Amino acid sequence: MAALSSIYGKYDCANASTYAYNEKGERIFVGENGIIRRWIDGSNIKLWIDENTFRDQMEANQAYDATDQAAARWTRIGSQVDAPVHFWMVSPPEKAKVVMRFSPNPEKPTWIASTLLPREGEIPLWIYPRFFTYGAAGQAGILAHEMGHIMGLRHEFLEPALSPKFQVGPINPTSVMSDTLPYTIQETDRALLKVFYEMHSSPSEDFKFEIIPIDV
Ligand SMILES: [Zn+2]
Repeated sequence: MAALSSIYGKYDCANASTYAYNEKGERIFVGENGIIRRWIDGSNIKLWIDENTFRDQMEANQAYDATDQAAARWTRIGSQVDAPVHFWMVSPPEKAKVVMRFSPNPEKPTWIASTLLPREGEIPLWIYPRFFTYGAAGQAGILAHEMGHIMGLRHEFLEPALSPKFQVGPINPTSVMSDTLPYTIQETDRALLKVFYEMHSSPSEDFKFEIIPIDV
């Protein structure tokens, strides 16, 4: 997969765009400004793809397939389903927590996709034209990364002084939340996600974050 990596290069994820990221640590990072928002453990996050926003049915179908694959990558370990949060594709839209839409986004041609950390109300998951320059495996990896954000994970490379965060677990140089494509969810990503969702109180004296579980 090294060849693919050099083709894909750096991932320009819009979630990072408001932060400097000169730190190349590789960990799972969560929380911002003293607050960690995550879903209630065991939540089913309903995701609706607004296919009418896509340029054609072929691209909408690619979005469906990549979403299916990304959700399966997060939740399946071998044949077992074992994850604190599950994604479900739904219709009609009023039941959805996450709404995926296409946007031409001409001002930011390098962006691939963007979304938000856990919060009340609808969470948009934007797909931009550059997303469709990747093959099926790359698209699934990109959505796995975006689902990481939706579950509360931040980038491995945020500047801590600009945006305080909390590190869960040891260094992992290949995390799906790093900035190099193609993305692969690591066993440590899944394991640390579970640790994250089992956290209810301060694990150390240095831990200054308040944890807010949100109901979907
Ligand atoms: Zn990102």
